[in-house]
Amino acid sequence: MKSPWRVILLWALPALVIGFFLWQGAFASAGLPGGSNTAATRMSYGRFLDYLNSDRIESVDLYEGGRTAIVQATDPELDNRLQRLRVDLPASDPELITRLRESNIDFDSHPVQNEGAIWGLLGNLIFPLLLIVGLFFLFRRSNNVAGGPGQAMNFGKSKARFQMEAQTGVMFEDVAGIEEAKEELQEVVTFLKKPERFTAVGARIPKGVLLVGQPGTGKTLLAKAIAGEAGVPFFSISGSEFVEMFVGVGASRVRDLFKKAKENAPCIVFIDEIDAVGRQRGAGIGGGNDEREQTLNQLLTEMDGFEGNTGIIIIAATNRPDVLDLALLRPGRFDRQITVDAPDIKGRLEILEVHARDKKLSEEISLDAIARRTPGFTGADLANLLNEAAILTARRRKEAITMAEINDAVDRVVAGMEGTPLVDGKSKRLIAYHELGHAIVGTLLKHHDPVQKVTLVPRGQARGLTWFTPSEDQTLISKAQIEARITGALGGRAAEDVIFGDAEVTTGAGNDLQQVTGMARQMVTRFGMSELGPLSLEGQSSEVFLGRDLMTRSEYSDEIASRVDAQVKAIVEGCYNNAKQIIRDQRTVLDRLADLLIDKETIDGEEFRRIVSEYADVPEKEQERLSI
Ligand code: ADP
Ligand code: ZN
Repeated sequence: MKSPWRVILLWALPALVIGFFLWQGAFASAGLPGGSNTAATRMSYGRFLDYLNSDRIESVDLYEGGRTAIVQATDPELDNRLQRLRVDLPASDPELITRLRESNIDFDSHPVQNEGAIWGLLGNLIFPLLLIVGLFFLFRRSNNVAGGPGQAMNFGKSKARFQMEAQTGVMFEDVAGIEEAKEELQEVVTFLKKPERFTAVGARIPKGVLLVGQPGTGKTLLAKAIAGEAGVPFFSISGSEFVEMFVGVGASRVRDLFKKAKENAPCIVFIDEIDAVGRQRGAGIGGGNDEREQTLNQLLTEMDGFEGNTGIIIIAATNRPDVLDLALLRPGRFDRQITVDAPDIKGRLEILEVHARDKKLSEEISLDAIARRTPGFTGADLANLLNEAAILTARRRKEAITMAEINDAVDRVVAGMEGTPLVDGKSKRLIAYHELGHAIVGTLLKHHDPVQKVTLVPRGQARGLTWFTPSEDQTLISKAQIEARITGALGGRAAEDVIFGDAEVTTGAGNDLQQVTGMARQMVTRFGMSELGPLSLEGQSSEVFLGRDLMTRSEYSDEIASRVDAQVKAIVEGCYNNAKQIIRDQRTVLDRLADLLIDKETIDGEEFRRIVSEYADVPEKEQERLSI
C-alpha cells in the first residue's frame, strides 16, 4: 500500500535541487559557445588596442552582440606564436569595426545564442515549478487521507498493518476442546451465510463479538474458523498496531481497515488484544492517552457507521475484559461476550487428537495419559508440546514419537530448556538438599500433590527441580491444600536453613518465597481463610496502572491493611516452622537421599517414596479425580 507518488517526490526533490545547481552552472557560461573559447586567457581592452596598433591581431570573433571578443594574436614574448585571448569590449564601439576593416583583420560577428537563453530560462523556471507541483501533491494527499492538522505526511495509509486472508482454510473441526464457544459462534457463521433468515423476521445481526480468554486458548483460531466455515475473507490486526507515536495514525488505520472490509463484505474483522486500544478512556495513572482515545473513538464511530446487515462481523479478543471502555460493550458494538477457557482434561484430549493428526505416534502413546499430565495447558501449549516431541523424535532418529519424547517435551514446555548439571561441589550439595526439602515435605503432607521426580538437571532458570504430579484441574481448592502448598514451597529454604545454618541460606529460594507470599496474601484478602474472617478485600487484580483498577484499590483502612500483613506473616511463619520440623525429623533419610541424588541426578517419585517409607509413614494422597 505504499504510495508510489510520495516515494518518487521525496526522492525527486533533493535530486532536483542538486540538478538545478549543476544546470545553473552549465548555463552560466552558455553565453559563449564552444567550450574551448571560454578557456581563452583574458586580455584587457587597453592591451587589445595596443595589439591592434602594432598589427599583432590576426582575427577577431565578436560575441554577445559585440560585448566580448575572442582574439587571435601573435605574442612577441612567445616567439610570435598565435594566441587566443578573450577581451571584454566596452559598449559596442562602431569605430572598432571600421578600424578592424581598415587594418584588414579577419573578423566575424556571432549571433546571440537564443537556444541557450531559452534553456537557461527553462533551467531557472523548472526547479521552482517542480517544487510547487511536488508540494501540491504532498499536501493534497495528506489532507485527504491522514486528516488532522499538522500531519504533513501520510503515515496511516502507507503503514496499514492489517492482514487479509481470502481463505483461512481453518474449519471448526480444527478447533477442539472449547465446545461452548464453538456452539455460540456457529450462529455467527449463519449470519454471514444466510443473513436474510434473520433480517426477514426483523432481527438485528450483531456486529461485534468479544472473545475473552488467556493467550493460547484458540481465540484467533476460532475467528479464523468462522471465516473459513462461512467462506468469507478474514481481516486481522492487533490492537497494539493501532497505538502509535503520532496522534491520528491509529485512527487512520482504523479507517483504512474498515474501508477495505466494506469493499470485501461479507467478511470477518479480527482485532487481537483489543485492550491495547479499548482501555477505559481517561483512566490509569497519568491521565488519558490522546492517541489511544482518538483511535478508540474512531473504532466506535466505524462500528456505528455501518448497519448490521452489511455483513461485516467484528471479532475482538482480550484477556482483560474488565479494563475495556464501557462504550465498547454497549449494544450494537461488542455486545456478545464469549469466554474461551483453558481446556479441561476432555478438551485437552480433543486438542491433542487434532494436533496428532499429522504426527507419527508409536503404539504405546496414550493421548489420554498426556492429557492427564498436563492440567493448565492451553491449546497452544499442547500444540507446542506435540511439536517439540516430534522435533526430539527426529533428532533422535526414531521412526515415531514415543512416550520418552513426550515426557521430555512436557518438561521442556513447562520448565524450559535442559541445561548441563553442576559439577559436584558444595553448591550442588546445597541444591540437592533444597530440592529434597521440597520433595520430602510434599511427600509427608497429606494434602500435597505427590512427587513425580526430583532432579538436579537444570532447566530454564531453575538449577534443580522437584516435579509434582498435579491433581486434576480443580476449581475448588481447600484451605488445607493451600497450606500444604505453602509449606511444600518453603521446604527448600527450610532444608537449607536446618542443614547448612541460617548464614548459609541462598538466593535459590527467591522464587519459592514469591509464590508463598502470593498464596498467603490471597488466603487472607480473597478467600477469607484467616482470622480476619470471611472478607474479600481485593479485586481480581492489583495492577494499578491498568484502567479501572485505580478505583477498586484500597477499599480498606490502613488498620485493616496492617492486620492483613500480620495475618500473612502468621500463615507463612506457621508453615515455615512446620517445614523445618519435618526436615529436622527426617535428617537421616535426607542425608541418604542427598548422596543418592548427587550420584544419580534424578530420583523418580516411586523410588523416592519407597526410601522415605523406610523411615517415616508416607500418607496416602487423596487425589480427587474428576470423572470425565
Ligand atoms: P489466542 O488467539 O487465544 O492467543 P491462538 O488461536 O493464536 O490463541 O492459538 C495458537 C495456536 O494454538 C493455534 O494456532 C493452534 O495451533 C493451537 N490451539 C489453540 N487452541 C486450540 C484449540 N482449541 N484447538 C486446536 N488448536 C488450538
Ligand atoms: Zn525451591
